[in-house]
Amino acid sequence: MQPVHELMILGCGPAGMTAAIYAARKRIDVVIISDDVGGQVSTTFGIENYPGFQYVTGPELVDKFRAQMNQFEIEQHLGEKVVKLNKQEGYFVAQTISGKEYAAKACIITTGAKPKQLGVPGEDKYRGKGVSYCATCDAPLFADATVAVVGGGNSALSSSFELSRIASKIYLISRREWRADEAPLIENVKAARNIEKIIGYVVEAIAGEEMVKGITIKTFPKGDEYKSLTVDGVFVEIGLLPNSDFARGLVQMNERGEILVDCDTWTGVPGLFAAGDVTTVKDKQIVIASGQGAVAVMSAFEYLLKSR
Ligand SMILES: Cc1cc2nc3c(=O)[nH]c(=O)nc-3n(C[C@H](O)[C@H](O)[C@H](O)COP(=O)(O)OP(=O)(O)OC[C@H]3O[C@@H](n4cnc5c(N)ncnc54)[C@H](O)[C@@H]3O)c2cc1C
Repeated sequence: MQPVHELMILGCGPAGMTAAIYAARKRIDVVIISDDVGGQVSTTFGIENYPGFQYVTGPELVDKFRAQMNQFEIEQHLGEKVVKLNKQEGYFVAQTISGKEYAAKACIITTGAKPKQLGVPGEDKYRGKGVSYCATCDAPLFADATVAVVGGGNSALSSSFELSRIASKIYLISRREWRADEAPLIENVKAARNIEKIIGYVVEAIAGEEMVKGITIKTFPKGDEYKSLTVDGVFVEIGLLPNSDFARGLVQMNERGEILVDCDTWTGVPGLFAAGDVTTVKDKQIVIASGQGAVAVMSAFEYLLKSR
């Protein structure tokens, strides 16, 4: 086992890097352990809603976060996936896939989430080239375009409505009737004249050249009827999967696997905090994850002072 640190941060996306910067500035003895650097932001084409930048690519923003974090001497273990987090004899112990163990008095989980994928041909190839998992982020890139939105829940409907003010035509495709809030979501979508509802279909494949050019859809569940739609973009809005499995049994989660936190990022387990997309925070955005990362360090600092 490595030496016991004061604070351990799991994950190195916006929440984790912000937490690391705040912790280092408070001279907390901190270690950060993460599978990669940047998290979902690394895979984001263009960002127009992170304050201070009118437009920035995901990799550029990650470089800025990272450069700021690297100004400080922070012990970093990158390329290390945490497979189990326990509390043993008053310390948090994280085990990684490579068999290492890290221990700390307090821990902040910032392991984020991954968007659920359709798992169809063309999806990986056109990711960032017309295939998007975030309308709030990418809708403005589709001005006057024709797009498909896949999903039938709140996020799919709210994305369709958001896109209806920017794109010229939206196909809203879901395998079954919408499961979304009647007011205002369903009402807004119904009122939007450029949204065409396609129910009882799933996406079979995404095609294109350099960028997305169209999709094939088929009936669900029978799969006996196919249609081709010409689209410039596909928004996959079928939910997020939190990266929280390693903490099962230690901390309370909701039915989706999101870690329950209060507004100070307390999880209910003394010394354990969580921030960003891995939590029950309603909106999943960079600025929100970063903000929560900062709050988590404030709370962890208070905990460390009190538990001396
Ligand atoms: C395609 C796309 C575009 C987006 N565009 C925008 C946008 O324009 N504007 C905006 O505000 N938001 C956007 N978002 C949302 C935004 O990226 C997220 O809200 C934000 O990245 C969440 O930050 P986070 O730090 O909580 O988690 P993440 O970014 O998910 O980072 C999680 C970190 O934890 C690590 N990790 C995960 N599991 C483990 C494990 N078991 N062990 C160790 N490390 C682990 C990961 O490697 C990663 O470093 C977009 C999301 C996507 C998918």
